[in-house]
Amino acid sequence: MTKTCTTCPYCGVGCGVLAEPNTAVAGDPQHPANFGRLCSKGTALGETVGLEGRLLAPRLQGKDVSWDQALDLVAEKFQTAIQEHGPDSVAFYVSGQLLTEDYYVANKLMKGFIGSANIDTNSRLCMASSVAGHKRAFGTDTVPGQYEDFEEADLVVLVGSNTAWCHPVLFRRLEAAKAARPEMKIVVIDPRRTATAKAADLHLAIAPDGDAALFNRLLTEIARRGLINQEYVDAHVEGMSVALEAAGTPHPCGLTEDEIQTFLNMWCSTDKVVTLYSQGVNQSWCGSDKVNAIINCHLATGRIGRVGMGPFSMTGQPNAMGGREVGGLANMLAAHLDLENARHRSAVKEFWAAPTIADHAGLKAVDLFQACADGKIKALWVMSTNPAVSMPEADAVAAAIRNVPFTVSTDILVDTDTNACCDLLLPATGWGEKSGTVTNSERRISRQRPFLPAPGQARHDWAIIADVGRRMGWVEAFDFANEAEVFREHAALSGVAASLGRDFDISGLADLSDSAFDALEPVVWPVPADGISPKRFFAGGGFYHPDGKARMLAITPPDLSVDLGTNLRFNTGRVRDHWHTMTRTGRAPQLGAHLAEPYLEIHPEDAAAIGLQEVGLAEVQNSHGRALLRVMITDNVQIGECFAPMHWTGETSSQGRINALVTGRVDPVSGQPALKGASVSVTPYEAGWYGFAASRAEMEPARPYAAVAKTKTGWRAEVAGHKLPSDWEKEARQILNLNGGQTSVVEDKARGLVRVAIYEGAVLAGVFFAAPDPVVVARSASIDQIGTETPAGRVLAGVPGADQPAKGAIVCACMDVGREELRRAIAGGATSVPMLGDCTGAGTNCGSCRPEMQELLDVTSNQRMAAE
Ligand code: SF4
Repeated sequence: MTKTCTTCPYCGVGCGVLAEPNTAVAGDPQHPANFGRLCSKGTALGETVGLEGRLLAPRLQGKDVSWDQALDLVAEKFQTAIQEHGPDSVAFYVSGQLLTEDYYVANKLMKGFIGSANIDTNSRLCMASSVAGHKRAFGTDTVPGQYEDFEEADLVVLVGSNTAWCHPVLFRRLEAAKAARPEMKIVVIDPRRTATAKAADLHLAIAPDGDAALFNRLLTEIARRGLINQEYVDAHVEGMSVALEAAGTPHPCGLTEDEIQTFLNMWCSTDKVVTLYSQGVNQSWCGSDKVNAIINCHLATGRIGRVGMGPFSMTGQPNAMGGREVGGLANMLAAHLDLENARHRSAVKEFWAAPTIADHAGLKAVDLFQACADGKIKALWVMSTNPAVSMPEADAVAAAIRNVPFTVSTDILVDTDTNACCDLLLPATGWGEKSGTVTNSERRISRQRPFLPAPGQARHDWAIIADVGRRMGWVEAFDFANEAEVFREHAALSGVAASLGRDFDISGLADLSDSAFDALEPVVWPVPADGISPKRFFAGGGFYHPDGKARMLAITPPDLSVDLGTNLRFNTGRVRDHWHTMTRTGRAPQLGAHLAEPYLEIHPEDAAAIGLQEVGLAEVQNSHGRALLRVMITDNVQIGECFAPMHWTGETSSQGRINALVTGRVDPVSGQPALKGASVSVTPYEAGWYGFAASRAEMEPARPYAAVAKTKTGWRAEVAGHKLPSDWEKEARQILNLNGGQTSVVEDKARGLVRVAIYEGAVLAGVFFAAPDPVVVARSASIDQIGTETPAGRVLAGVPGADQPAKGAIVCACMDVGREELRRAIAGGATSVPMLGDCTGAGTNCGSCRPEMQELLDVTSNQRMAAE
């Protein structure tokens, strides 16, 4: 069957994928980002492309309308708002999920034709602080290095990055390099002991926001040991003395002096150092300063742009970099040109033959939704993103969207938390149907190619936006024949930018024919017209400030001694097998098996002080919102801190939207919100009963606590309620969403246990367990029994049959291997991850679960040693 070379739509690693029309996917062995590897999310891509829940026609307030009606309405509403209230009364909120061509057309329409810069993106939540840090240091937003630098380095420092879960294939490359060169060292700087930290040589459990203090200390030590690369600094860097002076004032960072010294010794004694930073750095109210504190150390030592060394910003989203390249942030112009530079503005205006050009920065994400709440935005277009879940203070953002007189959302799905707030829904093509380019974290441009037809009336985002542009009167400017034509224009504009001395230059691709665009191989920019293309930047200087020099900045670390009272610091992040708001990964049963409900990690001392029970429920709240989360007691988090994942929405949980609790406080330089910086009170949730359900039918998250997930036999749900139901059979039927069939009910009134099985003929359609405490049943076995003729006696026992040993919680999503299976293999003599793989199959596909397998081995080994 024909295989299409395309690119994974999830994280910033940007892995190449081979996809077949029957939706089989595999890693592309030729793609230089992954060389054939895929993580669990990439491996399951084929299961996420079905049409279930898809938006297939334009829909106005719940009713299908024609494309003409829909697009005329968008053009009319935006034009009316602009005429009556000015161009800044309208806004686009776009996404790092868009392809570069989509982003380019949206940015062109808003900045060059509407004449406002009110286009911001969910990348503001992801890497805006890195952009700001790069621009302050380098004079442009350039990632200097390449992925191979991680393999070539002797020391890799991962700051605020759970790489093993969030950028798994890059971590696999790192693991492989370390296996080949065991002398290579990995340091993880993170308040949490993550899967990445457990695999590192050194984990530094820094205080939240302690990063700048630590890197200031490193800068001071670099100078004290005489390691400043004076030749490089003299030739290429300004600001050394002020940076050193500021760094000389010590600030606590939450580490012991021994830990600090160990880190300083490793960094100072190793020439080839790569320092990767990600959301733990960016998602902070002082993220830009953290970025510059890191870059200061690399500039001072000249460890930048050479093989195996440099600072490296790892982006969260698949096309955050492409969005930056087209200027898809409210404070950027296209092609890395500056909005505040009159020459740049007039060059872009002229290139576009535009009637106007935005001359001041637009509203950044948090301010944009505040303007919606304040009634200043009269028409809002959300594209490919779910801000009613993902923005900080998400409840207020949902209300703000509802407050806008006209709202339109372009999406692939009908039901999302954001779509529920919008007037008009426009069906877009999704991954597998779209065509265009994305840029990964190492500046590599790759093609996303279609291998499936566009379903229903779905259209490409760039085509929808261009159609609106034409209907607003700018026919010629938005008369693109196809995505290749959009790309050629984008590439040609980058040539204009290069002529103005900017770094982003792909003018060498501006004359690609349609067929050459179709065949475009992954390529790292710059790709200038003269063909000279340095793969790394800045080894020999050549920065983009007017004097050609970089800037070291004076960084004053934040005061960490904030008294939270009885509150806990609330950290948020991703889990291994889900992506953003689960609109795609939630469709793949194996991806929901690893962590099936929203949870709160909390330290044992805090849990004891609060009175939380393991696997009980916690009520987490602050002035912005409230969540109910499953309790995981673990010393992976520090005392005074707690952690919850970001993925659950109103579609998948009743009270799991944790961004409702997150503060809208932003970094003053970048405008990036502190998604890891909220404080919350945590109390036990006194449930009257707990339940677990497995059904062939889709279940709603409709109880005080409820979380639903797809399974290979239907759906599963974790539920809890306050008041005991008077009729358990009725309650079970409602939860299981099953009306017909025959019911078997077992009730132990004395112990408060209830078990209900519903059969359709001889086939089990659903099973429900309830108890006064968190339900203890073999969930995998119950899920596997749905759709079978397993007798009620065995189903209601809630344990697997003697011939079906318990799996336990799923660790390896690809091979469906559970914790209990791994424990049995360890008890049977497996002493290493490869041996566990041989015994069970776990870890033999994508490898994302290998850190957890190693942890199980370590725990067992420690237990044995303690017993001896
Ligand atoms: Fe996709 Fe995983 Fe590769 Fe990221 S690491 S691009 S999620 S396959």
